[in-house]
Amino acid sequence: MNFLNLLIKSVKFLIFPPKCVFCDSLNTDVFCYECKTQIINSFRPHIIKTQQPLVCASGLVYSRLVQNSIKNFKFRNQVNISNILSNFMASTVKSCFKYEKFDYVTYVPMYKDNSKSYNQSEILAKKVSKILQFPFEICLKKTKKNKVQRGLNFQERQLNVKGVYKSVKSLKNKKILLCDDVVTTGATLSECVKELSKSGAKVICVTAAYTEKNNSLNGNSS
Ligand SMILES: [Zn+2]
Repeated sequence: MNFLNLLIKSVKFLIFPPKCVFCDSLNTDVFCYECKTQIINSFRPHIIKTQQPLVCASGLVYSRLVQNSIKNFKFRNQVNISNILSNFMASTVKSCFKYEKFDYVTYVPMYKDNSKSYNQSEILAKKVSKILQFPFEICLKKTKKNKVQRGLNFQERQLNVKGVYKSVKSLKNKKILLCDDVVTTGATLSECVKELSKSGAKVICVTAAYTEKNNSLNGNSS
């Protein structure tokens, strides 16, 4: 490394010291030892019971630390958290759907109005596809802008997502792994699955985290 590079790196370190993406403490790594221990110990991949008929696996409880990391990822441009979350998601798939072969790995799309530069679900799906070595494919688009799901009850969430997603291709006999960051009631994932099924696909979902009470209104997304 030449002197200039070293200088740039040092200045960057002073202005933006690395922080743990889970607890925001200053750290040499993006995942501090305490959080690593706590989160790895709590990781329990299993099929989630939601209020929807849905096959969805997840492994991390949507605890304060996990919630903070997903907020850092979604709203504070800390995209490096996706490396950690996608690894948990891939392990969840390997553990819960050991012998499944997927034709495509896809994600829950956002409405394109340029208000946000990236979609966290898409980033996670691309990384999960790479780890598991199943092809990444765009299968859905969001055709309408709706309210955020946070704060809505189960019926309101179902209504809010009804008809907002459309398949972008025929998916006859395709087996799809649908990725998202958090599952709450399962209303969003269910609507996506319904739409993908109409195009002929069989769909299994995986999320990084799940809310412990799936009727909770505090969930961040779906
Ligand atoms: Zn930490």
